[in-house]
This record gives sequence, structure tokens and C-alpha cells, in this order.
Amino acid sequence: MKLAVASGKGGTGKTFFAVNIFYSLISAGKCAILLDCDAEEPNAALFVGGEQAGFDKVCLDIPVIDKEKCLYCSKCSESCYYNAIFIIPTSSIIRVIEELCHGCGVCNYVCDNDAIGKKEKPLGYVVNYVLDNGARLIETRMDVGVYSPVKLIRAGVAAAKGASLVIMDSPPGSSCPFIHTVAGADYVVLVTEPTPFGLSDLRQSISVLRQLNKPFGVVVNKAGIGDSAIYDYLLGEDIALLMEIPFKREIAEYCARGELFAVQDIEFRKQLLAVFGKIYRNYGDRDRKR
Ligand code: SF4
Ligand code: SF4
Repeated sequence: MKLAVASGKGGTGKTFFAVNIFYSLISAGKCAILLDCDAEEPNAALFVGGEQAGFDKVCLDIPVIDKEKCLYCSKCSESCYYNAIFIIPTSSIIRVIEELCHGCGVCNYVCDNDAIGKKEKPLGYVVNYVLDNGARLIETRMDVGVYSPVKLIRAGVAAAKGASLVIMDSPPGSSCPFIHTVAGADYVVLVTEPTPFGLSDLRQSISVLRQLNKPFGVVVNKAGIGDSAIYDYLLGEDIALLMEIPFKREIAEYCARGELFAVQDIEFRKQLLAVFGKIYRNYGDRDRKR
């Protein structure tokens, strides 16, 4: 089973929930992998530790245009969905804007003059960690200045392929990195906070998940602050409220020290296992249900 933990905005406690439910599962004897897809700011390793056990470099194929062969027909520029090829045919100017290129290869495909080659642009790394108890963490880590972590996330997901249980820490937001993380998930836990910002971003995430036809439920973190609008929304939309985590100074202190709250609070650990059990019973063993 692949369980993605996501949030519409940063700072809601998404990673806090992901690392603590992962710890709770492995300490209950489950064989699980933690996959940190938050490639811009991966920080799961700060909480779960572990020894680095190798890494893979991930690169993007960027087109290189041979100006000797180019006839300035504009086909490549017109075909590029990301507007990554700038061309002024009358002045014989053509340039690839590397920051916008997604390495899809369409320009190469449409060029009839064999004028487009490629070069590798490093994006970052997929890093493997082995934890003390033999569990694994796979971390996606983007280089500074890289525009999109999507290819790195795909590489991280591929590295976790075949594992029986994967907890995915998704990037925040509801754009491409989030979509590519949750695309392969069996269930998505959306972590939010009971504030107007939390509700606004939660609505956006839910809108995307509904379009993707993904089952999901909501965890309200920092319960006790803000207002009741988020609960009214969940009730009105018939969305599962999986768990509430109270707003407590003690929890914030554990997070600030990079420690797992579930290590010391057995009740919290039990609650997380109960949430997982509920999700697993309903959505986990899809092969068995087919
Ligand atoms: S499609 Fe090929 S020939 Fe046409 S502008 Fe692009 S690189 Fe040049
Ligand atoms: S590889 Fe794709 S994104 Fe990059 S310039 Fe070519 S068509 Fe555009």
C-alpha cells in the first residue's frame, strides 16, 4: 500500500504526521519505507535518522540546437508546451530556456532537420538511508536553482517500487509535484489546520484529488486554534475526519528538536496506528478485493 501524506500549504504538520505514523508502523513490526518526496526541502531524515547507503544522481535531458542545421522553421518552439524555446526566425535567433524545459523531448521529435541533440542537466539526488531497525528512508533532494522536482519525485517513486508499504511525504501545495506524488498513492491523508488559510488550501487539494479520483481523509493538526469553519466544511462535504492533533507546546518542542513525538507518547502512537488500520481496512489490500 502507498499512503501519501500531503497538505495544501506548508507548516501544517504534514511531515510531522508522516514521520510519526512511519515510526509507529515500524515499531509495531510493519515493514515500511518512508519516501520523502518534498524534494525542495527534504527533512524526514532529521526526524528518523539513519545511515546513508548510496544515492543516484538524477538528470534531465535538455535539448541542444545545432544552428548549422536549424532552418528556423519554428516547429519546435510552437510544439513546446512549456514555452521553453525562444525563436526569432527573421534574425536567425533560437535559444532553449533551460529553466523552463521539462525534458519531454517533443522538440526533438518534431524537428525534421535533425537539428536537435541533447545534454544532461543535473537535477538532484535520490538518497537511500538505512535506519537502525533495518527500515528504509528514500529521500529526493533537489539541487539549488532547479525549477521543477517532478523528475526527481518520479525517480524516488520508482526506487520504492515493489515495497509492500510506503509512506510518502508529499511536497506542499496542489501543483505538479503534489500531483506526481499522489498519482501513485492508494490513499491520501491531507493534514491541515483549523484556520482560514488552512481551509482555503485544503479546498484546493481536495479539488485536485477529486479530479484524480483518489480516496482521501483529513487530519486536523493544531486543533484548538482558529475557528470551526473547517469542521463545518468537512461535515457538509461528507469528508472523513481521521484524527485531531491538539495544539500543544510539548508537541512543537519535539518538532523543533527534530524528535519523534510518537517515541515518547504511546497514546499518540496508538492513535496513529488506529488511523492507519482504518485506512488499510478500507483501501489497503486492493489486490485482495479485486
Ligand atoms: S524544428 Fe528544428 S529546424 Fe525547426 S526551428 Fe526547431 S531546431 Fe530549427
Ligand atoms: S524538451 Fe520539451 S520542454 Fe524542453 S524545450 Fe523541448 S519541447 Fe520544450
